Amino acid sequence: MDTPPFLEAHLRAGKSLFSSGAIGEILFSEGTYQIEIKEKKRGAFWPFLQLSDTGELQDFFCSCSSAEKKKSCPHLAAAYYAIFKGEKAPLHVRFRESLWNVLCNLASRRHGYDAKGLKGNQKSGYLAVSGSGKEIFSIKALNEKAKGKLNEILFHRVLETEELFFGESGKFKRGLLRLQYAVEKDLG
Ligand SMILES: [Zn+2]
Repeated sequence: MDTPPFLEAHLRAGKSLFSSGAIGEILFSEGTYQIEIKEKKRGAFWPFLQLSDTGELQDFFCSCSSAEKKKSCPHLAAAYYAIFKGEKAPLHVRFRESLWNVLCNLASRRHGYDAKGLKGNQKSGYLAVSGSGKEIFSIKALNEKAKGKLNEILFHRVLETEELFFGESGKFKRGLLRLQYAVEKDLG
């Protein structure tokens, strides 16, 4: 991880946001990221960053006033730390090479990319079976929050798009990029 081109004070504030659990959802498609940074007082910000496979920062912006004026802010810095988590390679490269990605791609090719191919329901969980009826894959959410999330991932997935929406003021709004949705924890 290189030192990103943000102001020293923002790097410090970004690091403290990162280590205090302010990172929310991380959405990315290859090296294009949108990361939710939850600030206690001001709510959520969604900085946008684009990185090469080798981790060079190619483009970035955030909707806060600091980023507009100084091209640097604590949210961008926090997002940058979340992408690397102290590792050498950025998250999208670690994701691409991860066992989870390989396994899920194999399973998708076999069972299809549509959740209609799964049997079961929210209560019992969902499963994919082989031609001979063997259980190949199953997933069950254990609490209400996870049930909602699983439901969203399986049945209300936003298809891959890279459209960004700009409001009347020209300010970036959370538009979306919704694509490979990675649960960071799975990547350790
Ligand atoms: Zn910002």
